[in-house]
Amino acid sequence: MIINVHAGHSLKCRGASGLLDEVNEDRAVKNRVIELLRANGHTVYDCTDDVGKTQNANLRNIVRKCNDHKVDLDVSIHLNAGGGTGTEVYIYSDSSKAKDEATRIAEKISNALGIRNRCVKTSTKLYVLKKTKSPALLVECCFVDNAIDKVKWNADKCAKAIVEGILNKSVNEHPTPKPQSNTSNALGTYMITASDLKVRTGPGMKYRVKTHNELTKDAKAHDYDRDGCINYGTRVTVSKFDGDWAKIPSGWVAKRCLKKV
Ligand SMILES: [Zn+2]
Repeated sequence: MIINVHAGHSLKCRGASGLLDEVNEDRAVKNRVIELLRANGHTVYDCTDDVGKTQNANLRNIVRKCNDHKVDLDVSIHLNAGGGTGTEVYIYSDSSKAKDEATRIAEKISNALGIRNRCVKTSTKLYVLKKTKSPALLVECCFVDNAIDKVKWNADKCAKAIVEGILNKSVNEHPTPKPQSNTSNALGTYMITASDLKVRTGPGMKYRVKTHNELTKDAKAHDYDRDGCINYGTRVTVSKFDGDWAKIPSGWVAKRCLKKV
């Protein structure tokens, strides 16, 4: 399968917090979900956004990343708040192609954590479900402000349950990851914004290209794509590589390929 996975909200516009912090936990789940899916041979794109400063910017960034790939499923990972207990999974409508996966995920999280199964719910108002092009589901793993959910919470168990719900089979909790090729997809479409690449070096229009360290110092694990490369922003099509740097029509550097850390 080819699957988009993202954690909800952004480091600059955080989600719910109570006994648990949504952004911290949804990223822990998301990272583990991606690891398990890849270890089981699936192609996964991490569509998490950590630069959006407002809820709208965050949602737009996520959906743009999701719709960049044609996938079998979009998976959005959140934690709930507002007085309740248990897990629930949203789909856009009852006829969603993600309904079976959603049903299994809710059931499996409920069983794995020992919290209430609030089952599958439909909503036509959730932006990610409305705007993504592929079948999509949004997991509300548990409630951040419920004492029972907090005590029972385990991000790794939750991630395993989500993966088993998606794949409809049991997965090994400690898989041996398949070695990732760092070159097979070296040419293709990469993400960058021109302004990310340059630093002003003097008055007027004096610029130099950023060093590798400058480009990567703020990169988080989810900024690395499946080739172990970093995504920076706007889409450009790469035509040529010189060493690790890609040449693009407007100048130098589309992306530096790096081993995932
Ligand atoms: Zn949320």
